[in-house]
Amino acid sequence: MEKIFCFEAAHFLNHHDGKCKSMHGHSYSLHVIIRKESLQKEGPKKNMVIDFQDLADLVQPMLKKYLDHQCLNETLQSDSTTVEFVCKWIYDYLKPMLPELHAITLYETASSKATYWI
Ligand SMILES: [Zn+2]
Repeated sequence: MEKIFCFEAAHFLNHHDGKCKSMHGHSYSLHVIIRKESLQKEGPKKNMVIDFQDLADLVQPMLKKYLDHQCLNETLQSDSTTVEFVCKWIYDYLKPMLPELHAITLYETASSKATYWI
């Protein structure tokens, strides 16, 4: 299953040889993809992979603290916050608390995205 989150952020690519060297912003679309062998067998989450609300409760604090309305170069401590880098950063951040995490897809624009999984 998959849940989509949106956030706005500023960044720049310090080593880029084009316009991405300058500070600018994106409206990112974050796709969190969860995979599990089987559905919950019983209880209030019967036939779910994960409760959408439980997933949001894990992702939203990360968005608030590191990503949404932040300068990614500062919060992620990198001078080259490419979409690939941010995508992997999100995967690495969430995976320890979300073992069922399968992949992260991050859209930087409507036509430019990265996907990361192991
Ligand atoms: Zn950019």
